[in-house]
Parts: sequence; structure tokens; C-alpha cells
Amino acid sequence: MASCCGQNFEDFKESNRREDLINMANQYAAEQQLDATRIPLGIRLNLTNDYHLAQVFQLFVKHIQDKEYVWKHGILALANHQGQVLELTYEKDLPLFLQKKDHEYFDCRIEAIGANAFGLTAKTSKAEFVNGKEHFLQCLHDAQTTSVPIFDSNQQFIGILGFISKMNDKWQTIGCLQGLLVAFELALTEHEKIETLEREAKKREALLEMTQTLYSTMDVNEVLSVAIHHFQRFYPNVQLELWLTQELLIPNLPIKQMTFIPNSEDINGQAFLEGKLIRRTKRENRQQGEIAAPLKGKQGIYGVIHIACQHSNVFTDEEISFISSVADIIGTAFEKARLYQQSNNLVKELQVINDLTKRLNQSLTKDSILQFVLTELGQLFDAEHVCVLEVNDRKDILKVIASNSDENVGTIVSLDNGYMGLVYRNKEAIIISDTETDLTIKDTYAKQLGCRSLMSVPILSNDEIIGILSISNQNPLHFSYDNFKMLQVFAQHLGLALTNAILHERLQQLAITDYLTGLYNRSYLDEKIQHSMKEDEQGSILLLDIDDFKKINDTYGHHIGDQILVQVAMILISSIRDTDIAVRWGGEEIALYLPNVDPNVAKKVAFRILNRISQETNPKVTVSCGLASWKREDQEVNRLSLFRMADKMLYEAKNSGKNQVRVFQK
Ligand code: GH3
Ligand code: MG
Ligand code: MG
Repeated sequence: MASCCGQNFEDFKESNRREDLINMANQYAAEQQLDATRIPLGIRLNLTNDYHLAQVFQLFVKHIQDKEYVWKHGILALANHQGQVLELTYEKDLPLFLQKKDHEYFDCRIEAIGANAFGLTAKTSKAEFVNGKEHFLQCLHDAQTTSVPIFDSNQQFIGILGFISKMNDKWQTIGCLQGLLVAFELALTEHEKIETLEREAKKREALLEMTQTLYSTMDVNEVLSVAIHHFQRFYPNVQLELWLTQELLIPNLPIKQMTFIPNSEDINGQAFLEGKLIRRTKRENRQQGEIAAPLKGKQGIYGVIHIACQHSNVFTDEEISFISSVADIIGTAFEKARLYQQSNNLVKELQVINDLTKRLNQSLTKDSILQFVLTELGQLFDAEHVCVLEVNDRKDILKVIASNSDENVGTIVSLDNGYMGLVYRNKEAIIISDTETDLTIKDTYAKQLGCRSLMSVPILSNDEIIGILSISNQNPLHFSYDNFKMLQVFAQHLGLALTNAILHERLQQLAITDYLTGLYNRSYLDEKIQHSMKEDEQGSILLLDIDDFKKINDTYGHHIGDQILVQVAMILISSIRDTDIAVRWGGEEIALYLPNVDPNVAKKVAFRILNRISQETNPKVTVSCGLASWKREDQEVNRLSLFRMADKMLYEAKNSGKNQVRVFQK
């Protein structure tokens, strides 16, 4: 073995001492009948993160069985990859250079103390052996230094383990080192185990905490933020993204919406479609790995967790299965919260609908129903415009019959085009998120209202479209799909309520009108006169009876008689004002009540009517008329006495030759 005491590494690099070391190890192995390949000349650590070399060293020292022997003969040292000693074991006789003073490290670099195995390994990252006087330092001249490199799982040279022995016997040195390395290996394994156990325990704890938090919340947003928070705790150095099928934007969370195109190239799409975790190394950079784990519940898959990490080998199989279970827990919690939210929304919607219909059904008239719709729906959906359009009898146009902006009432809307036309033709509701970007339909009415969000639903009565309920807002994307569903349900109730109101109005009309002439009936007149006598200052009643009507019937038949009755009724209706009331009093007798009309004016009306009847009826008939009036100051007058007076006057008119008017004079 060449002697070399130089201070420079250069002086050493030609030496063959590593081969010497291997040879010595092999000889030792042969002598001890050991398998030579078992003799380690370097240590590989399978630790990835948080590696504490010193911690392993402590464990290693614990594992040395024949400590006494080792301590007696040498000093065990752990150095960093530069050859600076971090830890030492010794009993006594620590060489001066190793004694710690102000230095943090005991410097064994070649540059610092010349030839020694630590310094050499630092340069070569291989196992080294330096014998006696080969050492530059005097104090090592009767010692041997032996060292082996330590590598981490990424092949990084991270430290040196060595032995400074005074055995003066290289065989013993080698034997000792061999034993030590076995101990170091044991220590590493133990350390790894402890680390793995600790890591597992921490993860289990965190997983438990996450599961508890996730399962205790019913809020979808909270589920996602808790899930992301924990995931980032498990894997702080990865890039995490949550891709959801549902549109959910939560500020400051890495959540994205899956615009899903089934495509096996896309790892998220693949994980979603196959419902299982997919692991890949990145194409662009094979140093990077990515994982996509589906968020699965019992009823479906709601999205994918995507993880990108720097080193593809970072995730062990155990971790992959851990990620998979975490994704499952998140998926289940998400599903539960979503179902809860949905059922809550449903209950709320039902309550609103229930409340609305209850109040809707309390309104019996069309007007009050429409008024209710305008105010309630405007508030409920925060809509600027609410309007109800009615299909006309000829079914060729729509007319706005109620609107919260009065100027729109009466607007005529075509059935052939625009959104309303679409609703009318298809008898189906529509929701438009932005009328400006919707190029398929041109709608002048929507433009006129200046609306960008729009919901229009048909109002049906017995499956026939009678109108359209339309709600709009000037901002795009204003209405949600839930709003739309609710409006549709509401429109069904509205259809029923309007049908009922229309029927009710018709029924009321029927109850107060005469079927043949369309004039009001007697009970209606009674009611109106009573009302007038309370409210007005005066009033007049005209009782008319067709002259010789029996003869008309006899001559032309009852059918013509009926037509004459209708003709007379029409003449009456067109001769009076809206406030006047024409009533079929009996067979061919008609009464006219003129509120707030004095006898003189009433007489003129009577003459005009008599005149018109005699001229306009065909076959021609005449009528006789009795007239009576009342004034507020007449104490004794009442409805019955008024009728009686008019009847008396009619009788007089008949007896005085018919086709004339008789006025009651006090
Ligand atoms: P007068 O001038 O005295 O009133 O003679 P009149 O024939 O009109 O009187 P009368 O009371 O004798 O006969 C009334 C007739 O009116 C009897 C009835 O057949 C007829 N009449 C009553 N209601 C109707 C009806 O709804 N349709 C038809 N076609 N005839 C009716
Ligand atoms: Mg008559
Ligand atoms: Mg009569």
C-alpha cells in the first residue's frame, strides 16, 4: 500500500485503497465464512422526507452489540457529505482535532486535516480506508480510518459513516466496521419503521379528524373546504385541484368545473368515466407524476381530485390506497351534504309554493289574482318585470293584461315569433340566461323591456293555453334552474286559480242575467236600487210593457216573439248609460233604473226609447211606460212603493191607449 501523507486530495486520487478495502473485506468474509456480497460498502437510506441522520445514528449506536469493544478500540463518527463530522461516540482519548470548541463541526475534510477516510469519501462518495501513517495528522498515525458513503432514496449522497480505530490490525478494523454496518442497517430499518408508524399514526389521526369534520357538516361548501384543507395537510408539496361536475365556485379554493369531454387522454375524464384512481407520469416532464381520484358517493360520481407532484415515485402503493380512501370519504360526505341541501331546498320550495297557492286560492277574482302574482313573484325572484299575457278569443294575439310596469298593460305581442310565440306554440316553459347572446330568437318585446334574463311559462286551463306568465331581469344569468322549476309549478296553480276565477265570474254573471235577453234579472235590480237609495240623492224607474204582445205571438209564433224581446232589449241597452240598469222584469215587461236621474230627464229617456222601439223593431211593436222617481227628502219612499207607483203609471198608460209614457206626480 502506497504511503501518502499529503494534505491534498490530488495526492490520494491515484491510490487503490478502495480496492484494498474490498479485498480486505472479502478476505475477512472468507475467513469468517461470510457471504462477501453481504459486506456493505455503502448505505442506502429509503427515507424521503424529514430525514434525521443524527436520529438514525443514535439508534445505530444503540444497536451496536459489543459496545465495550468498539469504544475501547475506536471512535465511531457520522459526517455530512462534505466530511464534516456531526456525531461521535467515544470513551476517552479523543484526538485534539476532534475535540469540540467553537466549531460546530469537527472538520475531517482533506483540506482541513489532510488524508483520512472521511475526507476521501467526501470526495469520492465511495468506501475508503486510510492506514496509520498515511494520515497526515500525527495523532492518527497509529490509527486506521474507514468510511462508507450514505445515500438517500434519490441516490443523493447525504453523509458518511466511519470508524477511527486504534486496533493496529486492519483485519480487526474491517471486522469491526462490518459489524457496525450491520448495526447501522438495523438502525435504519428501525428508524424507517418508527417513521412509517409515526407517519401512519399521524395520517390516521388526521384522517379521523377529517372524517369527523366532514360527516358532521351538511354544508356542501364546507365539505369541500375541509376536504381541501386536510388534503393539503397530508400532502403539503403537491398541487391539488378539485374538478366538479356541478357548478360550484367557492372563493380561494382550487375548485374547477368539469367541462366534460369523454377522452382517455384526459386523466380526470378517465378517472371519472372508469370510477377509479388513475396514476400517470406526466408526458411533458417524466419527473412529474399525477393522480386523479374520483369523488364517489353511493349514487354517483361528483368529480375528481387531481394531484400533481414533482417526483413520480413520491406516492407509494400504500399512499395511493390512502388517497383513494380519502377521495371516497370526501365523495360520500359531498353526496350526503348535497342530498341534504337538495331536500332542504325542496322543502323550502314546497313551503313557498304551498304558501303562495294558499293565498292564491283565497283570491276569487281575476284582478286580485293578477295583482297577487305581480307583487309576490316580483319579490320572490327579485324580478324587475313580471307580466301576464292573455290569449285573445280568436287566438291570434297575446295581450299584456297585467304588468308591474303599467305602461306595458295592453301591449299586443305576436304569437308567431319571439319568446312568447315559442312558449305559445310549444306549450312549454323557457328560461333564457342572456337574451343578448341568444341569437336563435329575435324578440322585440324582451328588448323593449330591456331584459337579459327571462323565464316564461304557459298558463294552462284544461290543457289549453290561456296565457303566459313572464318574468325578467335586466342582468344576465339572474335566474337559477331551481327558480325555473318553481315558476313552472307556480304556473300550474295559477292556471287553476285563473280558471276558477273565470268560472266564478261567469257563474256570477249567469246568476244575475236573463238568458234570453242578456239583461239583468230582478233580484239584481232589487240589490242595485237598495244600494242607490242609500248612496244617491235621487233616482228614476221606468216600467215598460210591450203592447199587445200576445197578438205578436199569435201572429208570428213564439220564436219571433222571442226575437222581438231581444230587439227591444238591444234598443234599451244602447239607449242608456253604463251606470243605468236594464232588467227583464217579467214575461214581456222590462224595467229601467236610472240612478241620480230626475223625473224630467227620465221622461226624455222614456220618450226616446218608445220612439226608437216603434221605429226599429221588426215586426213592429210599441211599448207603454210607467215612470216613478224618488228624492232623498221623500221620507216615505222605498223600493216597493217606487215599484208600485211605476206599475200604477204603466197601468194608466195601457188604459190610455198604449204606446205612451205616464209619470207619477205627487
Ligand atoms: P197588453 O198590451 O195589455 O200588454 O197586451 P199583451 O198581449 O202584451 O198582454 P198579455 O199580458 O195579455 O200577454 C202577455 C203575453 O206575452 C203572454 C205571453 O205569451 C207573452 N210572453 C211573455 N213572455 C214571453 C216570452 O218570453 N216569449 C214570448 N214569445 N212571449 C212571451
Ligand atoms: Mg204586454
Ligand atoms: Mg204584460
